[in-house]
Amino acid sequence: MIEIRQLSKSYDEITALNEVSFDIGKGEIVGLLGPNGAGKTTLIKIMTGYLHPDGGSAQINGRNVMEETLTVQQGIGYLPENAPVYPELTVQAYLSLMAELHKISPADQGRSILDAVKATGLADRLTQRIGTLSKGYRQRVGIAQAIMHKPALLIFDEPTVGLDPTQIVEIRSLIRTLAQNSTILFSTHILAEVEALCDRVLILLNGELRADSVMEELRDTNGVILVLKSDVPRLKPILAQIPTVQTVTRQTTEGTGLRYRIEGERPDELSSVIYQTSREHGWPVREIYNEVTTLESRFNALAMARQDPPKAPVSTDSR
Ligand code: ATP
Repeated sequence: MIEIRQLSKSYDEITALNEVSFDIGKGEIVGLLGPNGAGKTTLIKIMTGYLHPDGGSAQINGRNVMEETLTVQQGIGYLPENAPVYPELTVQAYLSLMAELHKISPADQGRSILDAVKATGLADRLTQRIGTLSKGYRQRVGIAQAIMHKPALLIFDEPTVGLDPTQIVEIRSLIRTLAQNSTILFSTHILAEVEALCDRVLILLNGELRADSVMEELRDTNGVILVLKSDVPRLKPILAQIPTVQTVTRQTTEGTGLRYRIEGERPDELSSVIYQTSREHGWPVREIYNEVTTLESRFNALAMARQDPPKAPVSTDSR
């Protein structure tokens, strides 16, 4: 459904996107995760035809976004960052205007508006002025305009930013419902959001795509941690003799212990094999455990591996 190839974009000296490539298939719900300034909005604006890249290409539903912009836009439901909803209009008047802009025929407009307000829980707010709605409800109005022409692809830029925790839960639940019938790409700087909603995550840092993984892969781990009270000679060669061990890395010293990370096949069995080996050699073991990888630890490892420090931290809470 989406094919992004080597997209690049700079603003004067700032490289906002650097040769970003990925595909998204029909029915996926994908989180575009990155701290402030990572390039998420730039990428989304290019994908939705509102910004021209310096290089690369974007295809949506087999059409080139730069060449067939209007046709592509008609097939996308786009919620920009800070959805531009007009406060002086009622929900109904605003959605009627949007129906016109989406070129929904007059005969179908009533039905489209009704379906959109039902899906977003706005049915009893039709006559209310948008300016008097809570921010969460204004965001629903933005989502209603994005879905009213029934696009197969929804692209939301930071859909929960600035909302309170209750509103966040409501909007996430709405996104989950919409995912039953649409492909969804949304950007966020909140790890918990990706974990709560996505099949897959794209991690963008300093304009570069640093990870493209299904969530299950990110949670998987094949590491065992061995903490010793004191160092022992020939630990690495002895562990390397275990057939399923692939790598042994000494990590930072923790308190009074020495920490090793051992990677290998079948980590569940590996930890007991390492335990046996430790006993045979009389090693002063403090603890042995299977490493649990979280999205947060993966993200932090990626963020630390890059050259520049992050401009703003990625939130680990849900706000
Ligand atoms: P945020 O979450 O803060 O919106 P983002 O991940 O969406 O961040 P972008 O808005 O795409 O990131 O910005 C990427 C980089 O490009 C940033 O360094 C930003 O300051 C810069 N940038 C974005 N738009 C412009 C512009 N119109 N002119 C100059 N620099 C820009």
